[in-house]
Amino acid sequence: MPDPITMPDPHSPNERIFNKRRKMLVEELASKGIRDKRVLRAFEAVPRHMFVDTALSNRAYEDTALPIEMGQTISQPFTVAKQTELMEVEAGDKVLEIGTGSGYQAAILCELGAKVFSIERHPQLYDRSREILQKLGYRPTLKCGDGTMGWSAYAPYTSIVVTAGAPVIPETLKNQLDIWGRLVVPVGDEEKQVMYRITRRGEGEGDFEEEKFSIFKFVPLIGRQGWSQ
Ligand code: SAM
Repeated sequence: MPDPITMPDPHSPNERIFNKRRKMLVEELASKGIRDKRVLRAFEAVPRHMFVDTALSNRAYEDTALPIEMGQTISQPFTVAKQTELMEVEAGDKVLEIGTGSGYQAAILCELGAKVFSIERHPQLYDRSREILQKLGYRPTLKCGDGTMGWSAYAPYTSIVVTAGAPVIPETLKNQLDIWGRLVVPVGDEEKQVMYRITRRGEGEGDFEEEKFSIFKFVPLIGRQGWSQ
């Protein structure tokens, strides 16, 4: 059973320590190459320790992935920052996230002023992330289901981010991009994935530009246009 979510006193000694560690994490991300100041400010604002189990909150500001329920992970902060930077989010953008997980990246995207939609396949993670995001005052639109099929009701999106490793670039997600919209998705085998950014240049089938970035390691994207169970 996960711990019940209680909101801490922002002036408690523990919270002051977390604030200090969060600032140090932001410096570390900048030293590792994250340049977008708005992304760094969002990392300074979102309390990552609230998105992990209390037993792990002391490790929340290490630049590392940590376990959450259902055998999943909250991604490494550098990975979240890199994906967010590649999305080039502006306030008011309509953004779709596949793999809500802990809810942390959804909170970062909300901090950037985006209108956030996020899909998670595990009901337990969907429930937990919804509760914590609400308690922290973030208002993304959440859904439980297979994110490889996107969310056509709200399409097109200014950007789409996939936070689990895909075997191929999901075609449905490409087709839910707005013109000049960007899809950021890690693609590869189950061991490692290359980060892709696909930019839609027009309405035609071939109007997509593909860029490749470095290697990452994600939990698998499971679904109709992902890995099978
Ligand atoms: N963005 C998350 C965060 O900030 O905590 C990262 C979560 S984890 C690396 C990836 C998540 O993708 C897992 O919670 C997993 O259950 C979810 N996932 C995998 N396949 C999915 C699918 N087809 N649709 C929706 N969620 C999926």
